[in-house]
Amino acid sequence: METPRLFKTEAIVLRHRPLAEADRLVVLLSPTHGKVEAKAKGVRRAKSRMGGHLQPLTRVLVQLAQGHTRYVVAGCQTLESFPALQADLDRLGMGLYACELVDRFLPPGSESYLAYHLLLETLRWLEQGASPALALRRLEARLLHQGGFGPELGRCLACGATAVERGAFSPLAGGVLCPACAPGQAGARPLSAGALAALRVLQKGPAGQVSRLRLPPAIAREVELHLRAYIAHLLEGDARSTSFLDHLQRQLLTAAQEA
Ligand SMILES: [Zn+2]
Repeated sequence: METPRLFKTEAIVLRHRPLAEADRLVVLLSPTHGKVEAKAKGVRRAKSRMGGHLQPLTRVLVQLAQGHTRYVVAGCQTLESFPALQADLDRLGMGLYACELVDRFLPPGSESYLAYHLLLETLRWLEQGASPALALRRLEARLLHQGGFGPELGRCLACGATAVERGAFSPLAGGVLCPACAPGQAGARPLSAGALAALRVLQKGPAGQVSRLRLPPAIAREVELHLRAYIAHLLEGDARSTSFLDHLQRQLLTAAQEA
């Protein structure tokens, strides 16, 4: 489909950065037009009416016009601003992490409908407040699965055994190894039965089943470690992800020390 010169779409603001004297480059995620970069003119001036709408973690209705080199924001209104999330530093950090993760795993021009709704569900879950960490684990597992990067959780990647209930998780191999194949595999960490069951629900279970998960703290940390290690492995070599990777690695270290 050819994108028209002027169009309206709802979108989530993923991030922005200053541009020229008073402008801003905003990166938007639209359910129908993918990831779109657009210039917002004059929004860093105090009297700009549009600036307040184009903050990260805001769901907006934007009108975009094709400029010489990129889109220009021609109009904007806020649809949803997640005030509770924005007011709580922990949840704000989680929301920004959610946006960055989607940004990293969604190449420009790719199909975005599922990722958009997954991110929106995640932000609404964070806004509402219960089990915020679970919301992030669901986002991680599902985003990878939707994008075709999901770890193999059904069978051993070395011998093909299907009734695997525990063993090891290997970011390098891309999923689960059975107890017989696990020893000696580089980078593989022990995987408990509880963590494997939780990962399966997070990856493919319906939202209701995920929100009813009550993970003991040790299992929750183990699941987090496996997912973060896997994401870090997938992002290695992506130069844009260097600072994001540093951030992930620091979190991995902290989680490993706590475990
Ligand atoms: Zn095996």
